[in-house]
Amino acid sequence: LFKARRPVIAGNWKLNPKTIAEASQLLKLLHANFVNHRTPAQLDVEVVVFPPFPFLLEALLVLQGSGIKVGAQNVALQTSGAYTGEVSASMVRSIGVDYVMLGHSERRAIFGESDVDINKKLHLCLAEPGLGVILCVGETEDEYESKLLASVCDVQIRKGLKGVSINDISRIIIAYEPVWAIGTGKVATPEQAQVAHTVIRKTLADVYGYQAADSVRIQYGGSVNPENVDSLMSMPDVDGALVGGASLTADSFTRIVDGSA
Ligand code: PGA
Repeated sequence: LFKARRPVIAGNWKLNPKTIAEASQLLKLLHANFVNHRTPAQLDVEVVVFPPFPFLLEALLVLQGSGIKVGAQNVALQTSGAYTGEVSASMVRSIGVDYVMLGHSERRAIFGESDVDINKKLHLCLAEPGLGVILCVGETEDEYESKLLASVCDVQIRKGLKGVSINDISRIIIAYEPVWAIGTGKVATPEQAQVAHTVIRKTLADVYGYQAADSVRIQYGGSVNPENVDSLMSMPDVDGALVGGASLTADSFTRIVDGSA
């Protein structure tokens, strides 16, 4: 399946697994899958895993030579100083992390992150050379039923990307994740995903022009699994997937990457 934009599959581990031993095991299995049985898909697709902070260094070490990149699930709103418990963008970049995930619906809903917070964090990430961002957006079930998908995504994109120059837009991936599809097994249909991605690309075109908007990769997230990934990826504006539950076993995550190209 030809894609003008390079597909990108990301694994969001969330608050899993419980120990470094389990994390290391998962990473070693992933490494083996990508090094010993390298498929064309694994070469064509950009692959990133997002383990919790304490496992980032282990991920970078174990995944060496696999082509799999490592991302952080969050960063602080500040750069340094008296902010107990926080981890900064420069810290994660300095160990070799390539991406930061921002604006996940769990961060928005459970931890109260606003679009303003997300935008501030995004600028702190862009201040670190070489660091990319996955910016997550998406409507709740109520908003979907009230036909607010387009306006919710439009606002989250505009506010999240406020002040981001056209030169930096290539460092950003958008993840469209309808909240009603996250962890529910209720995946959006390929057609629903395509409609949402078109809406998002229209907003991007409005802000950055058609050419730049056309180059931005938009992932779909929410109950992606090895069985549904290829029908989602067959949609012209679906450029990848952000995978939660199915990224926690090496077998299913590898099958998703293999099924995405
Ligand atoms: P899920 O999570 O694949 O388990 O639905 C996706 C996400 O939250 O990124």
